[in-house]
Amino acid sequence: MCRCVLAVATICRIVRMGIIVQKFGGTSVATAEKIHNAARRVIATQAAGHQVVVVVSAMGHTTDELIDLAKQVSDNPPKREMDQLLATGEQVTIALLAMAIHAQGRDAISFTGGQIGLLTDTVHTKARIREIDKTRILSELATGKIVIVAGFQGVTEQGDITTLGRGGSNASLVALGAVLKAEVCENYTDVDGVFTADPRLVPKARKIDRISYDEMMELSSFGAGVLQTRAVEFAKKYNVPIHVRNSGHDRPGTWIVEETKAMEEIAVSGCALKKDLMRVALKNIPDRPGIVAKIFTTIAQANIIIDDIIQNVLDDGTANISFTVEHGDIADLKPVMERLLAELGGAAGYEKDMAKVSVVGVGMKQATGVAATMFKALADQKINIQNISTSEIRISCLVSRADADHALRAVHSAFALDSERP
Ligand code: ADP
Ligand code: ASP
Ligand code: MG
Repeated sequence: MCRCVLAVATICRIVRMGIIVQKFGGTSVATAEKIHNAARRVIATQAAGHQVVVVVSAMGHTTDELIDLAKQVSDNPPKREMDQLLATGEQVTIALLAMAIHAQGRDAISFTGGQIGLLTDTVHTKARIREIDKTRILSELATGKIVIVAGFQGVTEQGDITTLGRGGSNASLVALGAVLKAEVCENYTDVDGVFTADPRLVPKARKIDRISYDEMMELSSFGAGVLQTRAVEFAKKYNVPIHVRNSGHDRPGTWIVEETKAMEEIAVSGCALKKDLMRVALKNIPDRPGIVAKIFTTIAQANIIIDDIIQNVLDDGTANISFTVEHGDIADLKPVMERLLAELGGAAGYEKDMAKVSVVGVGMKQATGVAATMFKALADQKINIQNISTSEIRISCLVSRADADHALRAVHSAFALDSERP
């Protein structure tokens, strides 16, 4: 046994194994015991010959609790101060994980985003990563330490703390993986991998073994909360494989990789649901060249993502325009709309409780009848489709929120994605 371990250690020294970046999400570090479990996994990876960089999220529901606390103090807290507050969650976990690794007899050092020079733009609460200074990380790895980095946070050039949007530890994971040219980014979470739909909503969902970056990107941006969209975008750009795994066991999870021929044979590989959407209806907007461009440029400048735009031109030289936005963005959107309408004329109405069900698959490019199957599945359940939007590999239907879960399960079954087990 001993001789075996020695032999592995020698081989690793001769054939230098690469860097692995591992990320542990909130549920995987929710308690002291879970932090010790994560420490064991990290140490085992190092013992197998890798240099290990670990990204951690805040413990359990800490980020949600901090947001609630802020709301108790202010209806509209300044975004810079939100970032000051939210970044504390991850700072607790990095220190505790470093302590757990020390307690298990290995050396580790923890860093905040600012301490490793993870520079972002200045868009507080939704900042984008600009660069990471890998010097300190590499020098600590070279001394044999495990390096622990706080996920979800960075710092502006002025030194202000920023956060990277909800689920932003995924972006930290992939950005570090790209900068360090990691062999793989391992995303440890509370499910066995990426499923054909959120297993909490569709108990019959199946685990997917391999999925392309493009499919994962569409699933994430249309509701699959398992990975943040920006993180997948980054992974595609720098061709870093992501392995989504369960932190509770060692079985392989889902690999997110470049598209292969085999993937193209499946028309629909997964479904996703986005709840809490709101429809904004603009009425009697002047129908002149440049008006729509002005509206949507202004909204984009406020960093608000919109979708499902419909325009109807009326006889009186005006137009009605509607689009959907996430409920959470409405506080930012309303003042923007008020300013625009004061300038352009027209009125805005806000309709809550919309949802969007989507099917995604690279095989859709060649397959026929995918849209028809989806529409029929919804019609059979008497679910009204309020709008349809598509990309080359996705079809989405806007439905009422009350129908949302039911719509997802109906569509999942219609594309034969249900597993055998109940
Ligand atoms: P972590 O705290 O580890 O980052 P998250 O809660 O952010 O974990 O993401 C994991 C959750 O994502 C799962 O518990 C699951 O309910 C949800 N989820 C949504 N869509 C999917 C999907 N297609 N496959 C797997 N999990 C999904
Ligand atoms: N703690 C942050 C959140 O809950 C970031 C993350 O977990 O990825 O969104
Ligand atoms: Mg997450």
